[in-house]
This record gives sequence, structure tokens and C-alpha cells, in this order.
Amino acid sequence: MIKPSLAIALVLAAPAVATSITADELVEWEDHLAEQVSEDRMRADMDTIVGFGTRHTLSSQTDPERGIGAAVNWALDEFRRISSACNDCLEVMAVSDTVTGDRIPTPTLVRNAVAIQRGTERPDEVIIVQAHYDSRVSNALNATDDAPGANDDGSGSVMVLEAARILSQREHPSTIIYALLTGEEQGLFGARILADWVESQGMTVKAVLNNDMIGNSCGSDGYCDAEHVRVFSEGLRADSTARLRARQRRFGGENDSPGRNLSRWLDEVASSNPDGMQVRQIWRTDRMGRGGDQIPFLDKGYPAVRITVAVEDYEHQHQDLRTEDGIKYGDTVDELDFDYLTRAAQLNVRALHNLAMAPMPPRVSADAAVRTDTEISWQAVPGAKLYVVHRRRTDESYWDSDETALVYADRPVEANAAAADEARRFSHIENLRGDDWIFGVQACNGPYCSPVASAVPGGAFEPVKQPEGDSD
Ligand SMILES: [Zn+2]
Repeated sequence: MIKPSLAIALVLAAPAVATSITADELVEWEDHLAEQVSEDRMRADMDTIVGFGTRHTLSSQTDPERGIGAAVNWALDEFRRISSACNDCLEVMAVSDTVTGDRIPTPTLVRNAVAIQRGTERPDEVIIVQAHYDSRVSNALNATDDAPGANDDGSGSVMVLEAARILSQREHPSTIIYALLTGEEQGLFGARILADWVESQGMTVKAVLNNDMIGNSCGSDGYCDAEHVRVFSEGLRADSTARLRARQRRFGGENDSPGRNLSRWLDEVASSNPDGMQVRQIWRTDRMGRGGDQIPFLDKGYPAVRITVAVEDYEHQHQDLRTEDGIKYGDTVDELDFDYLTRAAQLNVRALHNLAMAPMPPRVSADAAVRTDTEISWQAVPGAKLYVVHRRRTDESYWDSDETALVYADRPVEANAAAADEARRFSHIENLRGDDWIFGVQACNGPYCSPVASAVPGGAFEPVKQPEGDSD
């Protein structure tokens, strides 16, 4: 998304202007979508899913009222009900596999409840919004005791359902996948199964928003922050190779993974609505020593972030329900902050709408070696009507500060484009020594702009090409 005052070099890509709304109208339209997020519906869904007693991955698959089987069946049914309100616009399915692991001692069916809203123009281009639906208590193998999992991660789960209700009421050029994953507490199994499935479908992943715990605002020490969600993004790419690392040593790119740029973009979406939930970017893959369902997607080279509360409350996650020394433990509904959850859901809805309307970020490169000027080139992407070129100082953090905004004449350079390279765009900047800057380009469809893709090795929103044979 572009802040109009910061909009920089606008390079025209195609004559047609498909999306005629302005940036201001976009904010109004986003407000309209966000206002539809219903705290009441999320509360009702929360009561329903906590009502299954436990959603532990090893709990009963067959009991009609208690356990993970009943819970996943209900989620699939709920997705079908949502679909029936949009002329069957959702494909609802259980994406599943039978797995074993350290925390899954015997072969167990891990079922994810998934709903797919196909894009009208680029159905293979997908945005995934997901949460983990399974829950646990103190002992990770305890599949029988009550494990309400209200915050972890019932909160993300009811948000995914609510986002599906709202966004399925309109069409988007790109596909949105709504996913309630299981097996997370046993070792991120459901996410791995979904990531494998997405890969097998040949989909292009634009973004994965993994929401895990978005429903409390205070920690056990009384410290509170109801204004922010944290967005965790990886620095060095999980799918890096020896070749990529060697190229990054020569050209840079340690702080410009697609996940990092997705994080910067989410921060901008949030700050365009200063009254709503804001983003605190955390520049590490996940919390110290811990993980989440964004990781199996990162392993495959897909852009993914974890969205989570600003302050964790350790007494109310992964705990047996009990009172000890006057302290109540357990991940129960009464500990939730539903106002916080509602605002976190609104931020997701705004971001998902933007991502589903915007084109893919282009693949960008910059050439400034031993010269006094810089040439930036990128691959045209389907659906882009406009490209915005950004720069920032190499020691700057963000694309959006006034100081680092790149202003230069609107001038597509076609002269060097070979016939086979016709879809490639160029921008040539005179008197700019590229060594001192990081460049990036975002693709826009009207006011809907993709995250910036950085002109560094590994900056593209696509998996890194892996070497043949053994991994390095
Ligand atoms: Zn969790």
C-alpha cells in the first residue's frame, strides 16, 4: 500500500486502469470491511470450540461430542455454512495425512479444515490465513484432560472463520485459503501437510499470515499492551543455499527476505489506520526457542509471518487447569480480551483484502557495480497496472520514511529490452550510486500494492532454486 505523500517513482505498465478507487477510498472501503468483524460471532465460535473439551491431536477422532474429530467436523461444517452464504464460493476440504513423531507415538490421522476461495483472475496465486486449531495442557501427550486452548490458538481459529465470512462476500483476483491446522502442538504437522499440499498443487504463495495467539493483552506480571500485535519475520531465508549465501556476501540482502518485507508491509497497512491495531515488528523467525506454523512454509521458501499477542501470558497457555498458591492456571475463555481479538481480526481482514487484490511482488534486480548510476529491472507481473520503485539507505529499517523515498522522473527504459525480455521493466537512475542503497519494487493494481520485493539475492517472493542432488 502506498502512502500518497510517499508515493515515489510511478512507472506505468499498462494503459488500462482496472481499479478506479483512490487511496482514500481504499481506506474507507477497508474500514467498511473491518466494521463487519463481529465480536459476538467470535465469542459464539469460541464457546463452541472450547465445548469440545479438548482439541488435542491425539484425542478421539470418533466421539461425536468430545475431541479433535468432532471439532474438525464442526469446522468443516462451519466453512460449508459460510460457503452456502456466498453461492458455494468456497471449496471445503480436509487436507490430511497419517503421521508419527516424537509427540505422536502411533500413526495418527492429522486433519486440517481448509476452505479455498478461488481467485477470479489468478487462481494459482494464493494468500493463506491460518491458525492452529489443536490444543494441549502441561503434558504434551495428555489427550484426555480438558484443554480449552482459548487463546492458543482458539483465538486465531475463530478469527480465520470470521475472516472467511467477511471476505467470501466479494471476489478477488487472487485465491485466499482459510486454514484451521491441527498437529501444531505435536510438532507443526498440520502446517507441513498443508505446505506440501500447496506445493503439490503448483500454487504461487504470495503470503502466509499465521495467527497464533491473538486474544490476550496482559502478561502474568501485570504488564499490558492492547495496542500492538507482534509480527515475527525471518531474516536469513530458511531455504537458503551455499550459492545464495555467496551472492548475498557480494550484493547484500541479509535484511530483505520476502517475509521481512511482508512484515514491513503489514506495519504500513496497520499504520494507515492509526485507530486500529498496530504492528510491532519482531525481526526473528519466532519467539526465543519456540516455533509456529509459519515455519514449514518458510522451509519451502514461501513468504510467511507469525502474528501474535504483544505480551504473552505464560500462566494461561499449555497449562493444566488448576489453582496453585492462589494463581489460576489454564488457557480459558475468561482470560481472553475480546476487544483485542476483534481489533487483531480487523487488521487481518484489511491485510487479506489488500493482498488478494494486489498483484504478486515482482522479481527485482539492481545493477550499480563500478558506475555512477543505477539500473533497476524487474519482471512484469500479471495484474499490475503500476510499479513503485523504492530505495532506502542500507542502514535504514523501513521503506516508508520520507528521507529514503526515491523521487525521480517517471521514465520506463525500454531500450535495452531484448525481444525475449519484453516483459521486463527497467528504471534507470542517473547520478545515484547504488552501493549506498537498497532498492525495491512493489506492483500495484490501482491503490492495492503488493509488499516491496527487494533487489537483492533471495529477495524474490519465490522459493530459492535448490542445487541438484544433495542439499548443501
Ligand atoms: Zn500456539
